[in-house]
Amino acid sequence: MSADSNSKEQMQPTLQSLYLLYHEVRPSETPYSYAISAEMFGKHLDLYVQRRSSNIGFLPELTFDDGHISNIELAAPMLAARGLTARFFITAGWTGKRPGYMGWTELRALQAAGQAIGAHGWSHALLTHCDDRELQTELNDSRRALEENLGAAITTMSLPGGRANGRVLAACEAAGYTHVFTSVPKAETPPLGKTVGRFNVQGNMQPEWIAQLLQPQSGVLSGLQRQDQIKQKLKSLLGDRLYAKLWALRNRQEPEADDHWESAE
Ligand SMILES: [Zn+2]
Repeated sequence: MSADSNSKEQMQPTLQSLYLLYHEVRPSETPYSYAISAEMFGKHLDLYVQRRSSNIGFLPELTFDDGHISNIELAAPMLAARGLTARFFITAGWTGKRPGYMGWTELRALQAAGQAIGAHGWSHALLTHCDDRELQTELNDSRRALEENLGAAITTMSLPGGRANGRVLAACEAAGYTHVFTSVPKAETPPLGKTVGRFNVQGNMQPEWIAQLLQPQSGVLSGLQRQDQIKQKLKSLLGDRLYAKLWALRNRQEPEADDHWESAE
């Protein structure tokens, strides 16, 4: 093997993306792990702007699940101020109905601001627990409602609670979704595949730690992947519902989130 052929292999590698998952932004600090203070969120965004221009490490990409009202009231202006866009996955059956979540006017404004909209089920039911008819509602009715109200094709979705199996993924594809965003922490090489891994960011995660996460050599992401595999094993041992309850007790210490425990992830 000559030195010449070695040097040809050292061409610039394709940059991998790391999709980050947020839910709610709050004006002030909160112990609720699914919400992040605006101040901390701003620090995360400043890091992403810096990393996106530096072309090293994982390229950070932003996503939001559930359609919380803070997505437009707090997150969207902060993204716009930095020239960033995100994908917002919306629980269609909550739109305009559930207090604290965006209505159609807000979603249209988000879309007009250049943000991407995807689906997040109809009622936030865990898709692995749905029979065929329920899957139809969760996948098809949600896509149709979003398309009719926003006047655009909806081809991406994220899995409520991150739950999926082969049957669910086949149903997602049959319902017209070309990309399904999961909660499995994993870097993605373009072009975007049928499933897209994501890392769930919690409100107390410091920008210095996120910076390490975005650095492939730090080993942070591979450590998280090992943890996730253990979690999946526990889930299959304990059963999904018991696991989700235990998880909620440990991670979402907020009574008002009780009816929402299934969104664990
Ligand atoms: Zn959710």
